[in-house]
Amino acid sequence: MTAPNLVLVAGETVRRLKAAAETSGGAEALREAGHASGAALYAAFAEQVRSEGGAGPSEMPLEDFSAKASSFFSEAGWGRLTLRSSHDALAVVDIDGCWEASSGGGCNVTTGVLAGFLAPLADYPVAVMEIECSSEGSATCRFLAGNAEMMDDAYERMRAGEGWERIGAAEG
Ligand SMILES: [Zn+2]
Repeated sequence: MTAPNLVLVAGETVRRLKAAAETSGGAEALREAGHASGAALYAAFAEQVRSEGGAGPSEMPLEDFSAKASSFFSEAGWGRLTLRSSHDALAVVDIDGCWEASSGGGCNVTTGVLAGFLAPLADYPVAVMEIECSSEGSATCRFLAGNAEMMDDAYERMRAGEGWERIGAAEG
């Protein structure tokens, strides 16, 4: 298999690119750029996991996947990531110390990266939404992942004042 094309750049460079994109293309462009990066990160992650002799990421139990993905992202400089399922098909991802939060304006690149990274694990197009951001005073950045319908539903319910915990635990 071909090696994924990964480029390591300083966080400062990404922050400046992000600031530039926010003034021109907007958040959507940042998410799309992140999505492409997430797919490449997943390929690198799968390669690493298989080289350690384990099953592919899609065959692992969620706890193993979460632990391995967590160390992969923290080694990549992303922050401390935890991933759990609080509903059949909905994942909750927390990132403590997310690099992107320090640049303000929400973590659009990370949102796209998570969607691209989680896409190979689901049999539907994965949508990701950041529901709490440490740039707005939360302890961690918190993301919900699921299909587009779930995200629309979660968005509407949170707008109506429901806490995300209830949404994560609700009947689908
Ligand atoms: Zn954030």
